[in-house]
Amino acid sequence: MSLTKKIIIALILGVITGIALTFAPTDVFSPVDTYILSPIGQIFLNLIMMVVIPIVFVSIVLGTAGLGDPSKLGKIGVQTIAFYLITTAVALSIGMGVAYLLQPGAEGTFNVETADYEAETAPPIMDTLINIIPGNPIEALASGEMLQIIAFAIFIGIALANLGEKTAGVFHLFEQANDILIWIVNVVMKTAPYGAFALIASAIGGAGLDAVGSMAMYMVAVILALVLHAAITYSLAISIVGRGNPLTFYKGFLPAMSVAFSTSSSSATLPVSMKTAQENLGVRKSISSFVQPLGATINMDGTGIMQAVATVFIAQVYAIPLDFTDLLMVVLTATLASIGTAGVPSVGLIMLAMVLNQIGLPVEGIALIVGVDRLLDMLRTSLNITGDATCAYIISENEKRKEMNVQ
Ligand code: ASP
Repeated sequence: MSLTKKIIIALILGVITGIALTFAPTDVFSPVDTYILSPIGQIFLNLIMMVVIPIVFVSIVLGTAGLGDPSKLGKIGVQTIAFYLITTAVALSIGMGVAYLLQPGAEGTFNVETADYEAETAPPIMDTLINIIPGNPIEALASGEMLQIIAFAIFIGIALANLGEKTAGVFHLFEQANDILIWIVNVVMKTAPYGAFALIASAIGGAGLDAVGSMAMYMVAVILALVLHAAITYSLAISIVGRGNPLTFYKGFLPAMSVAFSTSSSSATLPVSMKTAQENLGVRKSISSFVQPLGATINMDGTGIMQAVATVFIAQVYAIPLDFTDLLMVVLTATLASIGTAGVPSVGLIMLAMVLNQIGLPVEGIALIVGVDRLLDMLRTSLNITGDATCAYIISENEKRKEMNVQ
């Protein structure tokens, strides 16, 4: 049986177990989670996180060096960032449109008197941008500052491309390091079905189905917007810009989406999403190695959708009308916020506080959606990484076509 099938079966069993646990007496879930599910899930996450930083660093160095001349790198960089910003803005618009259509926070359904939420401070977006160039790259690597790691790796990659033969030894060293890391990923992925099962059962059992109740409409709105963005925006981009078949794309990318679903982390899924894009979608290594790590760090369409729906939802619950300028502000802040959102579980919620603050909505409103956020995080993370792969696929296909025409 293929690994994807095993992971999907594990996910289904995990969902069933999670739901069964919500019906079990309260003293059953806690020990099962503490001593069985959480440890298994955490060991799997640690195994996969272990290779994330080295993989981001090594693959961006190789990707940048592989692209060769800096002007090509610049062009691909601009295309990538433009794709990321535009699709995130579209995602947010879809999210708001759906929220207005379905009215998940219609007046009278929610009691906000007791709503209380302690917002963590989101990193100011300007600081994130200013600090892209790391003052101390070793510190950046040690503390997992993705954008800084990417910037440092790009410099090394450009240097390797320029120095050519002189640094061929170091280039080969990076290639071999990459082989080692991919080998580790392949081994770690063998444990993915167990990890996925434990993570899903723990997430669903922990969130409980009671939380869903009155939040069902909000969840439907988020899920509908996620599906529309995948089915319309990405499918159009894949077929029109990339001239590919969206169905083949989704079928090929499913293994990575199922890992994102179980881990709720774009970063943790990165090694798998790169491998899947390269092997199943035929994305060039040099492009995948550059575009996907960058996307896992700065491109979060699924998170944007949740933030858009949540903003409109909270405005509806508190009966605060939003005008067009407010909506535009949401698109602007949430698009910028996605750059600073780390690809780990639940960060989207912290960044939501920043978006709400920006347009003067009560941050306590987040208390209403916290209960169901863990469940939605699984879905939006799957979309987050699909956006990155779509971009890598399109750029890679266009590069291939350009070279065919030149020859
Ligand atoms: N879990 C998401 C990711 O890793 C981020 C978020 O929306 O919280 O992509």
